[in-house]
Formats: sequence, C-alpha cells, structure tokens
Amino acid sequence: MSNKYDVIVIGSGPAGYVAAIRAAQLGLKTACIEKWKSKSGKGVNGGTCLNVGCIPSKALLDSSHKYSEAKEAFGGAHGIATGEVSIDISSMLARKDKIVKQMSGGISGLFQANKVTALYGSGKLLAGHKVQFTDSEGKEEILEADNVILASGSVPVNIPVAPIDKDVIVDSTGALEFPEVPKRLGIIGAGVIGLELGSVWGRLGSEVVLLEAMDTFLSIMDQQIAKEALKIYKKQDLDIRLGCRVTGSEVIIKGDAKEVEVTYTDKDGKEAKQTFDKLVVCVGRRPFTDELLAEDSGVKLDERGSIYVNDLCSTSAPGVWAVGDVVRGPMLAHKGSEEGVMVAERIAGEKTVMNYDIVPNVIYTHPEIAAVGRTEEQIKADGEPYKVGVFPFLAIGRAVAADETDGMVKIIAHAETDRVLGCHIVGPSAPDLVQQIAIAMEFGASAEDIGMTVFGHPTYSEAVKEAALAVGGHAIHMPNKKKRK
Ligand code: FAD
Ligand code: AMP
Repeated sequence: MSNKYDVIVIGSGPAGYVAAIRAAQLGLKTACIEKWKSKSGKGVNGGTCLNVGCIPSKALLDSSHKYSEAKEAFGGAHGIATGEVSIDISSMLARKDKIVKQMSGGISGLFQANKVTALYGSGKLLAGHKVQFTDSEGKEEILEADNVILASGSVPVNIPVAPIDKDVIVDSTGALEFPEVPKRLGIIGAGVIGLELGSVWGRLGSEVVLLEAMDTFLSIMDQQIAKEALKIYKKQDLDIRLGCRVTGSEVIIKGDAKEVEVTYTDKDGKEAKQTFDKLVVCVGRRPFTDELLAEDSGVKLDERGSIYVNDLCSTSAPGVWAVGDVVRGPMLAHKGSEEGVMVAERIAGEKTVMNYDIVPNVIYTHPEIAAVGRTEEQIKADGEPYKVGVFPFLAIGRAVAADETDGMVKIIAHAETDRVLGCHIVGPSAPDLVQQIAIAMEFGASAEDIGMTVFGHPTYSEAVKEAALAVGGHAIHMPNKKKRK
C-alpha cells in the first residue's frame, strides 16, 4: 500500500470522520488515523461523541427517562398500573455499550463503502504535511499527504481540588459507568454535561447536588429560558447550588465503602462541606493536542490551547487544517462535522463556507433546552433593535394531551426588518423545533414568514408558530400584550 495520500485526517470523532468521508466522496485518496481503543483493546472510530459523549449519554438519558416515566408518570391521571418498577443497571449499561458498538461499527462500514483507509494508532504532524503514524504495536511509518486535517478533539478539564481517581471522583466518562446508583451524588459544574448526567442518576434515585461556581445559571443561554429551566429542574429535585465554588475534596474510607467530603465556598462566601458517595467533575473540556504536533510542524496554538485557525479552518501551516473541538468555537459534534465538510470541499477546490451564526445548541434534560442564533442578552449588547415573541406550551393542545406543558418558545426578531435573530426553547421536542427555526434562519426568514406557515395540528411545533405570531403581537391562543399593527 502506498503511503502517499491526498488527505490524511488525524482523529475520527464527528469532525474527523465526516471530513474523511466527504473528502473520499470528492475523489480524494483519504486515510483517517485513530488511536481510540475499545474496552477489548480494538481500534474504534467515533471519538468522544460516539464512545463517551453524545451517544452513550443519550442512551442513558433515554433509559432513565423511560424508568422515571414508568415509575412516576404512568399512574395517576393516566390510570396505568405498572406494579413495582425496578431497573437493572448492568442491563442499562450493556444496552448503552451495544449502541456505542453499533454506531462505531457504522463508521467503519462507511469508511469501507467510501474507500477511506482506516489506520488504527496515533498520528503526529511533522513539517511539510508529513505524518508520523505509530500503529498499536508501536511500529512507525512516515506518511505523506497534500493536505492534513487535524481533528484531535478535546478531553475533560481536571481541577486540582478534585483529582480524578476513577473510583469515587470521576469525570463524565466515569459517570457513564457507575455499576450501581450512588445514593448521594455530587457534581461539580452545572453546565450542559453536569445537568445531563445529574438528570440520568437523579431519575434512577440518586440525591443529586450540583455545585456551580457562577452566580448565573447557564450564563451562555438566553436568561429567560435559563430561569424557566431552573424552576423546572428544581421541581425534579435537582439541587442546583449557584455561587458555590469547590475548593477541596477528601476521599474517606469507611469500612468497605468510600465517600468523598467536598469543601466549597457558598454564595455568601462561607465555607461549607458536603459528603457524597460519588463525585463527578464536569467543569468543561479542553482542546487535546498532546503528542500531536512536532516542534517544526508550523501549526500554532492560541492562548487557550486550541489550534489557531481562520474562518475556513486553515491553520498557520500551509496545507494543514483543523476542525472540531480542537479549534475555537462551541464544543459541539455538529459544529465539528460541518467544519469537516467545509474543509474537505475546500481541499477539493469548492468554495464552501460555514455559517457559524446558525449552530444549534441542546441540553438533553427533560424537558430539553435548545437554542439557535443570538440570545436576548447578546442582541441587547450588540445594540440592535429587537422584538420578542414568547409562547408557553401550557396553551398547546398537544402538550396538554401529553402532560408536557412545562416550558416555552421564545423567538427574537429584528425590530425593523422582522428577520429572526434567535430562537430559544425549553420544552417538549425543543431540539427538533429549534431546528425548524435554524432552517428558516438559513433562508433569512422573518417572524412573519414563520407565522404565515401552516403548521400541523395538534403538534408541539404550533408553539413555534404562535411565538412567531406573538413577535408581531397577534398570537391566537393567548392574549397579546401588543395590538397588531
Ligand atoms: P472527538 O470526538 O474528541 O474526537 C477526537 C478523536 O481524535 C478521538 O477519537 C481521539 O482518540 C483522536 N485522536 C486525538 N489525538 C490523536 C492522535 N494524535 N492520533 C490519532 N488519533 C487521535 N456534543 C453535541 O453536539 N451534542 C451532545 O449531545 C453532546 N453530548 C456530550 C456528552 C458528553 C458526556 C460529552 C463528554 C460530550 C458531549 N458532546 C456533545 C460534545 C461532543 O462529544 C464533542 O463536541 C465532539 O465529540 C467533538 O468532536 P471532535 O471530532 O472534534 O473530537
Ligand atoms: P460547561 O462549560 O458547560 O461544561 O460547564 C462547566 C461549569 O463548571 C461552568 O459553569 C463553571 O462555572 C463550573 N465550574 C468550574 N470550576 C468550578 C469549581 N471549582 N466549583 C464549581 N463549579 C465550577
């Protein structure tokens, strides 16, 4: 096999594998190097997203949601008798592992179908687009490529005040593997991942406490939606403590068991302590470039340790590109995938650009939170005139029928042009509803365009139509504050 390729991709997460497939579709001879190994020691594709991120977390969110529905929601008004409901954690984890295996195998199948050469081992970028490939037996080979795409992703941030021991103190990966439901579960960081993992184990019976250093809940989200979500989570017994910075932790051995005592400063600046059976550190992720770049590779990092790229994902070294979590921007699977497509198409000579203004963003709690475009706070800070339409799910027939009335849709449009600037939802099917607005925004829709569209009845999406109508002050199924012009 020749060691010369048109494109070599390092990393097969959602940024890298999509870039590799698209490059191969465009007729480029492509290889993708991946060093991730399955529990059995086999090289596997899919990166964080498939192995320890998006997919396994959603598998556990779905299992735990079904369990809590059966336990708490089926009875009562629905009149469904279930008898005693129980869950077998090892079966739940086995199901998750099976899904991961299936999805990862799917990528290998796509690589074969598209003639992407899958190389299992690690890749290091050398000067002049050369790549040093070290296979799993340690055998080294120098590969050449006209273009190299770096897609090495990210890893969890560790903090010295709570060092991971993979037993009592774990990161998000460890929290996907608890063999039994921890009675007392502490989570450091009430961000996206902390809330999702807290929801999983809380539904299964853990008493969950989330310690969050910031005073503002979900500060990157639209604050009207974040406040609504906080009220909903509190009803679910997620104990979210804002303004609480963890300053230390001590693992204590108690007979056969272990627990961890966490010290933190509370919102009044007082020292407090709390003991947990397990502690999950969810304080963010950092770009991963360890062992990736030779000193003379020519690729520069920025001050945050991300690979420095321009809007087209070109690095400071000619012919070297970087995509996904390892570069600036939100650490989201789909953001990296779109960058991968853009770069592959650019390499093939196309003029593709990516619209960074329209990247949806989801938190998979119940109900889910989803957003696209700018928040009200950002638009205000940008000094742009805007108008807002909000519609609650409480007034949507489908939501009432399904007992899913928590939450609302918020649409923000430009005050003069009526062009949609952002949409923020907490409520049933929020991610799929926000996607509708993402498409509308891609086409430059106005709130009126959305309000004039015929929506099926009864659907959750009617809340989107009504919120769009509310922007102009003429929602049908609630009284309007403003009169229609
Ligand atoms: P990664 O997926 O991190 O993949 C990088 C790959 O590169 C890895 O497989 C790594 O082994 C490989 N690699 C690194 N260096 C080398 C080297 N030198 N040689 C060979 N291989 C190398 N995002 C969402 O959009 N939606 C979600 O619901 C969501 N849920 C998440 C839940 C959790 C618990 C976590 C942890 C993350 C979640 N994310 C979610 C984030 C998402 O997983 C990441 O944004 C995404 O995986 C980034 O993709 P990537 O391809 O840039 O990097
Ligand atoms: P995210 O960036 O969405 O993954 O969220 C991580 C969260 O962890 C942020 O909201 C941080 O404020 C929070 N965080 C970071 N360090 C600490 C700490 N020592 N104690 C409590 N929360 C923290």
